[in-house]
Amino acid sequence: MDSNCLFCKIVDKQVPAKIEYEDDDVVVFHDINPRAPVHLLIIPKKHIATMMDVKAEDLPLMSKIHEVAQEMYHKQELKGMRLINNCNKEGGQEVFHLHYHLWGWKE
Ligand code: 5GP
Ligand code: ZN
Repeated sequence: MDSNCLFCKIVDKQVPAKIEYEDDDVVVFHDINPRAPVHLLIIPKKHIATMMDVKAEDLPLMSKIHEVAQEMYHKQELKGMRLINNCNKEGGQEVFHLHYHLWGWKE
């Protein structure tokens, strides 16, 4: 846990969020400023700053994130989705804890 990291604080329940799913490795919560009919953030509990900091040992976690995205697709009864990662400031990243935006459409 990085004590200065907003998403670590959400994982640790120090900052409230509307949590949609949680297991030992991953948390999914609703984005505070939704930009699609469904806008979820899928994050690892482990603090990894950016996608470029993902190591080979994290690959099972990355696969889990995709599995959870599929589960959310079914749970939210989506008909289409985008899974987006903004990497680094120049790529639009504002929170430096790895996260995937799940934008979903029901129709
Ligand atoms: P980024 O630009 O880093 O890819 O995305 C960060 C996302 O986190 C943004 O879409 C922003 O709306 C969301 N966000 C920022 N602060 C909070 C917060 O305190 N709670 C929740 N649920 N989402 C947040
Ligand atoms: Zn963090």
